[in-house]
Amino acid sequence: MTDSIPRYFVRQMDIKSLKQEELKILIKDMGEPAFRAGQIYEWMHVKLVSDYDEMTNLSKALRQRLKEEYPLTVLLKEDMQESAQDGTRKYLFRLPDGNMVESVFMRYKHGNSVCISSQVGCRMGCRFCASTIDGLVRSLTASEMLEQIYSVIRDTGERVSNVVVMGIGEPMDNYDNIVRFYRLLTDEKGYNLSGRNVTISTCGIVPGIYKLADEGLSLTLALSLHAPTDEKRRTIMPIANEYSISELIEACTYYFEKTGRRITLEYSLIAGVNDSLEDAEDLGRIAKKLGAHINLIPVNSVKERDYKRGTKEAIEAFKNKLEKNANNVTIRREMGQDIDGACGQLRRKYL
Ligand code: SAH
Repeated sequence: MTDSIPRYFVRQMDIKSLKQEELKILIKDMGEPAFRAGQIYEWMHVKLVSDYDEMTNLSKALRQRLKEEYPLTVLLKEDMQESAQDGTRKYLFRLPDGNMVESVFMRYKHGNSVCISSQVGCRMGCRFCASTIDGLVRSLTASEMLEQIYSVIRDTGERVSNVVVMGIGEPMDNYDNIVRFYRLLTDEKGYNLSGRNVTISTCGIVPGIYKLADEGLSLTLALSLHAPTDEKRRTIMPIANEYSISELIEACTYYFEKTGRRITLEYSLIAGVNDSLEDAEDLGRIAKKLGAHINLIPVNSVKERDYKRGTKEAIEAFKNKLEKNANNVTIRREMGQDIDGACGQLRRKYL
């Protein structure tokens, strides 16, 4: 049998998700000199090219072989909406298998930020969230997460200095790929983003928080708390049936002790559900225990859901209550209000 194995039997290696040492092994197996690995890695993660033909210091034959054996993960810009108010851009990207995810590009005084998705859909079922309505389709690979950032950089021609994993999906439900993604993104031989400028947001999967704490990374962990009591939290977040707030506090305390990084508490304010002054009081107590910063997000109403945000006054009163108790609190600046606001809405429009 001299025939080669039919292409569809070969499990294709996702070359852009490989760490440098892994890429070296692959290149060696191809019978190429080791330094080629460094060149290819640089083309992918520093020069951010999207086609092997742009890797001009490789021979034509090698480029052709790579193209056939290890196709590069690239995303297709299916749609993009730009806010006339603040230049925020919301992208809808098509993945190689046809699935879609959203990413958002935001300009701040301190630099540009990209919010990326970690999964296609989500299985966490938070009641106010559009991303979870049709459940989880699949998790994203490390390269598909990187490529959201790289595609935005190519499209805008601007540098990105902050990355938040707060788009569609639950990062802790895609743990290994998230850690791989983080390591590639912050690799000094790669895009070399500062680890401190990466934020990962979780609905509160306790074992994931412990595992991440032991990983030795310098990222910022954001916890979507959204309610200050277990009883209330269970009415809007199914994950609260699995882990209690006191377990979360313990896990976050461990995270802080291990990493020295303060947690951010995210709190989506929903009128009549979690925005009373008593809620502010209870939330303040939790934040103090953790030394956490609180980020208030006036809930974005989602067509399929009937949660509404409170009045400006109600939101201010909630914030004032927290500040009176010496909590560190911000109201999330709302970007791109004139384009499809809430997370997962652009993708839903296409489904
Ligand atoms: N699964 C992760 C990250 C994705 S969501 C998490 O739960 O943290 C990013 C943040 O947006 C979370 O705090 C989430 O609860 C919040 N969010 C989702 N839908 C929202 C909506 N309609 N209005 C306000 N915040 C929302």
